[in-house]
Amino acid sequence: MGKFYYNEEQESYDAIVVGTGISGGWAAKELCEKGLKTLVLERGRMVKHIEDYETANKDPWDFPNAGQPTKEDLEKQPKQSRTGYTTNAASSMWFVNDLVHPYNEIRRFDWMRGYHVGGRSLQWGRQSYRWSDIDFGANKKDGIAVDWPVRYKDIAPWYAKVEDYIGVSGEALNLPQLPDSNFLPAMELNCVEEQFKEKVMEGFDGRAVTIGRVAHITGTKNFDGRTKCQYRNRCIRGCPFGGYFSSLSSTLPAAEATGNMTLRPDSIVHEVIYDADTKKATGVKVIDRVTKETHEFKAKVIFLCASAIASTAILMQSKSDRFPNGMGNDSDQLGRNIMDHHLGVGASGKFDGFDDKYYKGRRPNGVYIPRFRNLGGASDRKDYKRGFGYQEVQAGAIGKIRSQNSRMEKTSKIPYLNQVDGRWVSAVLAKYSLMKITV
Ligand SMILES: Cc1cc2nc3c(=O)[nH]c(=O)nc-3n(C[C@H](O)[C@H](O)[C@H](O)COP(=O)(O)OP(=O)(O)OC[C@H]3O[C@@H](n4cnc5c(N)ncnc54)[C@H](O)[C@@H]3O)c2cc1C
Ligand code: SF4
Repeated sequence: MGKFYYNEEQESYDAIVVGTGISGGWAAKELCEKGLKTLVLERGRMVKHIEDYETANKDPWDFPNAGQPTKEDLEKQPKQSRTGYTTNAASSMWFVNDLVHPYNEIRRFDWMRGYHVGGRSLQWGRQSYRWSDIDFGANKKDGIAVDWPVRYKDIAPWYAKVEDYIGVSGEALNLPQLPDSNFLPAMELNCVEEQFKEKVMEGFDGRAVTIGRVAHITGTKNFDGRTKCQYRNRCIRGCPFGGYFSSLSSTLPAAEATGNMTLRPDSIVHEVIYDADTKKATGVKVIDRVTKETHEFKAKVIFLCASAIASTAILMQSKSDRFPNGMGNDSDQLGRNIMDHHLGVGASGKFDGFDDKYYKGRRPNGVYIPRFRNLGGASDRKDYKRGFGYQEVQAGAIGKIRSQNSRMEKTSKIPYLNQVDGRWVSAVLAKYSLMKITV
């Protein structure tokens, strides 16, 4: 029998949460704090906050090859390594071995994932943005797909609840297309970014440039068991300070503190059990990753938080007379219509000047250009709908485009952002006009 953490095994629980990533951690915290005895099942290995961040304090010279992946390493993670920054020796343990967890691609799709307690909350980029009414209303306005059943005002209090708990730093801009969060103090722009901001605002009709909005603790507000970000930019390894939000630093400890959580790692959920008499989901079927034993756990409430693809797979595998095509799949839409945001497309630039200045620390954040297209008047485009924000991964890194509710094509040509005659030239805009955006 696999190991249970924080509580003994029981046959049935008030609630079951599948997955311990960002959504599973939150579900566990909320259910446990409401007094429900909750079993949290995670397919990957146990990871303990701080003590299991084995590379957090290592320097390049502490790793073989200064941490660069070898050919053999890359052969094990051919898909996980596509981003170019995730599979070096300091962080590759948080990404799956593609040979052990293969998937077929008809067209390239980068499915970046890690199987361990904490899920991708450990290795995520912490960029945290609210959607606006423009986003929630876009399907209806465009007559596309299904109208969102909620609007910004319905979700705003929940954004605030999450932000207040996890800590999101950023600058308030009061823009209709990018509502402000409940911010902790913003991280500072460096001198080149400040100039970039000024020139963009001057040259592009007030277009905004702001510091990224990130789930890092800044300022003096207290967070249980977590301290202020130290600007080390080693977040992807796991942060011993709890400087950024992860399930391990934040929501799972809160769930544990209630005494109501039982956590079982190494538990691969493969099916939700359906009771035809009560017409309810009554439990889940599990294969122990280590012993290969099978188990069933029962509960009144089941939250599937195994991530978009894995939760869908579990539902599609949950077949019964009532649901021959998978649970909740009467529409036959489960497993269809997935989309992702783009990484590594955009613009980069080199700036000469400011030779007498330097920056301090390694700020774990870049700049952000909020959506500026199809917002009315001169911003409207006839050749595509909607818009996109523009996110720089971190100072000095290649920018990436975060699509807001939109899909972009023809992204292969990467233009450069040049400063000519003291003005940032519109290579970025030229780039945007190359793109055809569909929905
Ligand atoms: C490198 C990287 C950078 C990112 N940067 C950002 C960013 O800047 N901003 C942003 O908003 N998002 C970012 N994301 C995306 C973000 O991490 C995910 O959207 C988020 O973690 C999804 O949360 P989740 O709880 O649905 O899934 P996950 O966090 O993936 O957690 C799912 C958990 O379920 C477990 N699981 C899976 N299948 C099963 C099963 N069958 N049985 C039991 N357990 C199972 C997994 O092991 C995992 O622990 C990034 C992701 C990556 C990989
Ligand atoms: S930059 Fe901040 S959040 Fe990231 S590892 Fe360092 S202290 Fe932690």
